[in-house]
Parts: sequence; structure tokens; C-alpha cells
Amino acid sequence: PGGGHALTLRGVTKRYGTLTALDDVDMTIAPGEIVGLLGHNGAGKTTLMSIVAGLLRPDAGQVGVLGRDPARQPHEARRLLGLAPQELGLYPPLTVRQNLLFFAELAGLRGAAADRRVEEVAEPLGLTGLLGRRAARLSGGEQRRVHTGMALVHRPPLLLLDEPTAGVDVQTREQLLAMVRAMAAEGTAVCYSTHYLPEVEAMDGSVAVLSEGRMIANGTLKELVGRYGDSGIDLTFS
Ligand code: ATP
Repeated sequence: PGGGHALTLRGVTKRYGTLTALDDVDMTIAPGEIVGLLGHNGAGKTTLMSIVAGLLRPDAGQVGVLGRDPARQPHEARRLLGLAPQELGLYPPLTVRQNLLFFAELAGLRGAAADRRVEEVAEPLGLTGLLGRRAARLSGGEQRRVHTGMALVHRPPLLLLDEPTAGVDVQTREQLLAMVRAMAAEGTAVCYSTHYLPEVEAMDGSVAVLSEGRMIANGTLKELVGRYGDSGIDLTFS
């Protein structure tokens, strides 16, 4: 599977006991495309990203990350994607620089190349002045930014950002959105979950709406507003 897409999901179903968290979900993301994944709490957004990242196995259906199946080829698929999970996973005793370097080195960068990449990632995230600070002493929004940096340090062709703007101030949010747009312009495919439709609009993204595990709408914002504008489907998610 793949067909030139960065990400394909076909009939993906995931159950937790009797609860169906994802129900027969189809989705594709092309290189350079940004898809805003919207849905209320519990709609299945995190479950979808965890399956794509190979952290969970679907009960049915297929996933392709540039043609690799994360369930069968976890290492290959993992190298092709960057995941910034909702749960923050910084190592508190290390500085911001050390946290980012750890991921740069995991990706095979060494010495000056790794240092340079850390600086490159830190700048648009507004982290340059914080590189020497221990992660334990960062605010929630600062941690969120470092976390995003960790996901993109190895320049993955597919970026999965699970609510990257939760708890982030307005200015940083703008910077983050600009950086995501710039990465997409260079060909990175982005799956971005949020509760705020205006963010997806600001990024010129397509929209995928999950409701109780079902993909109820998928397309450009214009198409969705045209189709659902009068239908009473709530597109605000706030
Ligand atoms: P949020 O916006 O709150 O982050 P979400 O859209 O990311 O929500 P998920 O975290 O994917 O939603 O959860 C989907 C459903 O699956 C929810 O009903 C949740 O309670 C349930 N769920 C998630 N993880 C588990 C688990 N490990 N065991 C049992 N149920 C789970």
C-alpha cells in the first residue's frame, strides 16, 4: 500500500475491550499536505496516531507509512515519522539541548552536525534561550515546544503532532504553525490533532473529523463548510 502517499489508513479498527475506539477508518496524507485531525475528547485521535507510530496494533485494517507497515516493519516505519505525543516525555534532569541532542543522535547525527541541527530546530520554536535549562524547570508550554522539536529533529517525511498547541501561548502557537507550514512547503506530510478549527484554517490544511471512532468528514475546509455549514454538525470542537 502507499500509492505515493506519505500515510494511508484503510479500514483501521481498534477496540479496547467492548469499546470501539476506531471504527473502519480510511485516511490518506500526501507529501506536503497538512491534515488537521479534529474531534471531541475521546474521539480516537490519540489512538489513531499511536497506531500509525506502531505503538498500538490495529484489530483490523492496514496502515502504510511511505509504503511501510508500522506493525510489521516497526523500525523502518519509525525512522520515517516523527511523533510528538500528547503525554510529555522529556527527561527532567537533562537540559533542553541534551534532550534534543539525544534524539539527534538516535537519528544518527553526530558531533557538529547534531549540534547544528539542535540549533536549527530550537530557533523557530523560540527555544534558543532555553537550551541550557533543565527540562525539570520548564513551564508546560515550554515543555510542549521542546517536545515538538524532538519529533522533528531527524527531518521525518511524516510528522504526527498530537495537540501540539495545548497549553502554548499565542505567540508560540503562531511560531509553531508557521514552522509546520514551512515544513509542509518542503514536502513533509503532517497529521496534526487539535480542538481548534481556526488553527487548521491558518495552516491551509485539510480536515479529518473523528466522532466516536468514525471518520465522519474528510476534505478541504471549504468543502466541509459547504457540506456541513447548515447541517448542525459542530465544527468548533472547543
Ligand atoms: P482527547 O481529545 O481527549 O485526547 P482522543 O480523541 O485522543 O481524545 P483517544 O485517547 O484515542 O481519544 O481515546 C478514544 C477512546 O478510547 C476513548 O473513549 C478512551 O477512553 C478510550 N481509550 C483510550 N485508550 C484506552 C486504553 N488504553 N484502554 C481502554 N480505553 C482506552
